[in-house]
Amino acid sequence: MSGVIFDKARHDGVSNGWTTGLGGTTQLWGGQLWAWEDYEFEERPYLDVHAPRWPVTRKDLQEPYETFLRVVGASARIRRELLSTPVLEPSDAEDSVYTKYSAWLPWRKRNFYRHLRRELAASGRVTVLADRIATRIETHGADRAIVLLEGAGADRSSVECRHVVLAAGTLGNIGLLQESQASASPWLGRGFMDHVSGRYATLTVKDPVRFVRAMGARYSGTSLLTPRFVMRPGYAEKNRLLSAFAHWDVELPKASSYAILREALRSAQRGVPRLSGVDAVQLFRRAPRELAFGGYCAAVLRRRPVPGNALVHLQVEMEQPPRFDSSVRWVSDGGDRRLHVSWDIGKEEMEAFQQFGASFLDSLDLDELGLDLVARPADPEFRDTYHMMGGTRMAALEDEGVVTEDLTVHGAPNILVTGASVFPSGGVANPTMTAAALALRATAAMKDR
Ligand SMILES: Cc1cc2nc3c(=O)[nH]c(=O)nc-3n(C[C@H](O)[C@H](O)[C@H](O)COP(=O)(O)OP(=O)(O)OC[C@H]3O[C@@H](n4cnc5c(N)ncnc54)[C@H](O)[C@@H]3O)c2cc1C
Repeated sequence: MSGVIFDKARHDGVSNGWTTGLGGTTQLWGGQLWAWEDYEFEERPYLDVHAPRWPVTRKDLQEPYETFLRVVGASARIRRELLSTPVLEPSDAEDSVYTKYSAWLPWRKRNFYRHLRRELAASGRVTVLADRIATRIETHGADRAIVLLEGAGADRSSVECRHVVLAAGTLGNIGLLQESQASASPWLGRGFMDHVSGRYATLTVKDPVRFVRAMGARYSGTSLLTPRFVMRPGYAEKNRLLSAFAHWDVELPKASSYAILREALRSAQRGVPRLSGVDAVQLFRRAPRELAFGGYCAAVLRRRPVPGNALVHLQVEMEQPPRFDSSVRWVSDGGDRRLHVSWDIGKEEMEAFQQFGASFLDSLDLDELGLDLVARPADPEFRDTYHMMGGTRMAALEDEGVVTEDLTVHGAPNILVTGASVFPSGGVANPTMTAAALALRATAAMKDR
């Protein structure tokens, strides 16, 4: 790709939120796991923007969610935590918020290539062509496909097969289907969406023990669980709002040992462990005191520490509806391929942000939580969260979507598309576990066929 053109707003995920190579974007991601609720698969007629019903339900994904969690090595306790959340009634409108925890995969398990490579190698049934990219898929009837590949120096080859499972990420899936002219659906490349995040308020932690006890992330074995304060479906319906959730974003002082350790772990996830001399000295100087507090939080409170005087930002994250004019289009310009992205944040997201942010903050007793309010930005900044979804969405009819509920392309049944590009709407948060569960369900159905 030689360039991206943003027709409206810039999207950070498109610019730098994905990566090539085995393991794909799991080389960068946070590994935050999140199971969706019934209502996230439902149609919401009360919205001005259309969010359609999915052709699958939460119940259909229970077993594949379990399978995915086993494959990525989540403990039995984490599986229970994530999958036993009580199902919410849409009419439950009394409170604006319910609390639900997301689980973070331990650092050593986040990069899926590193985590699964031994199993792949041992299977003896997988051939990896790491030096090729797929440029086009040709289908010949329902049982034969040819994938054209390109290597360095325009070296070309092809693979012939019965079925193609496309797992090229949202941008790659859209690009390959467009290039292959594999779908006649008007929705190909459309309905592109993300979750967007805005800073509603900034506070200081004046009493870290109180804050950590009441609102801190908690440990479960070696995994971390972070509380999220999610808008109740009944409240969304009553106020005609998009779904949203609030959470605390802790800004660690840069020279704190926690921040230094976090950076070191992040670089290890990418396979290039790094700790500079300056950081090592800082760590040595500050670690004893800070880690003693960290040890107390971990061992006694079973919570992740937050240092005193840290800033905590109240972030509100909103879903985006699948807008037809929110699109990704690959354009060949001579030998170059350019990506045109037409994406923006609409007034519906802003409304959910303002109303839900105010309702949540006003419901807190800040003194009780050990917090002091510093600022409520008058003109908050918003950003995408690198959750690229939509563009090859699922629907029963080709006019309404690119793939069927079994994730095969309408009109090209031997191409199966996996990933968050198949989402008809974006749910409240983190897409990857749901995308993986859908893929497991669809590949099992293909095997049966
Ligand atoms: C910083 C960051 C943090 C994130 N945190 C979270 C999180 O905590 N929780 C969560 O749920 N999600 C998170 N995400 C999103 C998550 O990473 C993605 O949803 C997930 O990785 C998508 O998986 P995928 O396999 O569909 O695509 P990808 O991981 O993008 O993999 C696609 C692969 O296909 C390759 N490819 C593309 N085109 C071709 C082609 N033509 N030929 C050959 N290969 C091709 C790409 O190079 C890539 O290796 C995060 C993303 C980022 C960037």
